[in-house]
Amino acid sequence: MALPKRRHSKSRRDKRRTHDTVAQPAVTTCAKCQATVAPHNACGKCGYYKGRKVDHTVKEEQKKAAQR
Ligand SMILES: [Zn+2]
Repeated sequence: MALPKRRHSKSRRDKRRTHDTVAQPAVTTCAKCQATVAPHNACGKCGYYKGRKVDHTVKEEQKKAAQR
């Protein structure tokens, strides 16, 4: 099996690891029900996006519970 000829320096190792961190997921709050929502996505709780109902799969009772 091939082996590296020289050991990489700490600096080179650490430079490689600068990209190893996991970025925090971007989150916003729903303007209607204040639930945590991914940006540019319809709210999963009340089905609203930019003040307009877009998700018709959300049931009315769920919507009412979200408004409370
Ligand atoms: Zn909502």
